[in-house]
Amino acid sequence: MAAHARLDLLNLDLRGCEALAQSLGCKPFHGRNLFKWVHKHGVDDFDAMTDLPKALRTQLAETVRIGKLAVAAEQPSADGTVKWLLELDDGQRVETVFIPEERRTTLCVSSQVGCALDCRFCATARQGFNRNLGTGEIVAQVRHAMQRLGKTPSNIVLMGMGEPLANFDAVVAATDVMRDDLAYMLSKYRVTLSTSGIVPNIYRLAEVSDISLAVSLHAPDNALRDELVPINRKYPLEELIPACRAYLRGDSRRRITWEYVMLDGVNDSIAQAKALIRLLEGTPSKVNLIPFNPFPGSGFDTTPPERVEAFRQRLLRAGLVATTRKTRGEEIAAACGQLVGRVQDRSRRLVAPPGPIVAGAKTPRGTAVQPARP
Ligand code: SAH
Repeated sequence: MAAHARLDLLNLDLRGCEALAQSLGCKPFHGRNLFKWVHKHGVDDFDAMTDLPKALRTQLAETVRIGKLAVAAEQPSADGTVKWLLELDDGQRVETVFIPEERRTTLCVSSQVGCALDCRFCATARQGFNRNLGTGEIVAQVRHAMQRLGKTPSNIVLMGMGEPLANFDAVVAATDVMRDDLAYMLSKYRVTLSTSGIVPNIYRLAEVSDISLAVSLHAPDNALRDELVPINRKYPLEELIPACRAYLRGDSRRRITWEYVMLDGVNDSIAQAKALIRLLEGTPSKVNLIPFNPFPGSGFDTTPPERVEAFRQRLLRAGLVATTRKTRGEEIAAACGQLVGRVQDRSRRLVAPPGPIVAGAKTPRGTAVQPARP
């Protein structure tokens, strides 16, 4: 049997492993042990799973596999950030980024190859949508990092390539494995799903999960958000905000993280800060300002740091929690919105990048590289 035709154990949650063990004539606890070996201990060799019956080990070795992503490239950055370009079984590639900080480590994982959502300032959008990742392929990114670094990251964010809520079932199943005490043991506060705002799936998520939610807001009004995050035309702010509020279920310890990319002259005025304050009134919130990370042909500039800070101060004065995301791994194009894999470009837009679509987007149509900041 070809290796890729076999069941990938990384597609199974704990219950799935228990059921598998039973289907092979063993007890559910053997499945639990198997699950632990695979995830908690990161073991690849069935023979090393010493508390499984020998017959089970042999059967497993003959019938299932443990998915592996080939490392097409590993790029370490001076600040400790590491970006991996990982190859899936069909040759498609996704990027996974490891970000060490003082007191924690964060792993940024991808949920799709490419993305269909077309946010104007995002490099992944430029390649169009290729396919969803399976549960095993999402979990494999975590397992890869754990094996490579020798420990589990303290936080996982679904902020890599793709729109996680457009790949709902696989993403939810993968986050269940991330959370499982017998696997990666991450609390609901340490697994964060970032969405551009697929409203019906925010409600669905609330029914099956309580992981943390980050929402890519980027504009305080529909007119601008329609342009920057086109899914807003389908799910406008008056639907998005109540969905997010409902997601918190009145739990006073929780809040929504709003991502707000700072685009020079586009969404960064004090008037827009005030509109943002009004928009978020009554919703427990944390605003995360993300200095725009340039990429060739984006058509946008980064808001200068002093104006990012002025915007942030305005939010703080209104009592909002507001932070500025430190740009990490920029020189290896590992920063937010710079992940592009290197899959086939289906959109053809790399050939002719779109011109500026909102006032203030400064790069003229078709011109290329923005200088990298020091
Ligand atoms: N599709 C999901 C996850 C993607 S990316 C989402 O939209 O939330 C994680 C964050 O990076 C999002 O907030 C996204 O809008 C932001 N981002 C995209 N391109 C960026 C860029 N060039 N600079 C800074 N942030 C960017």
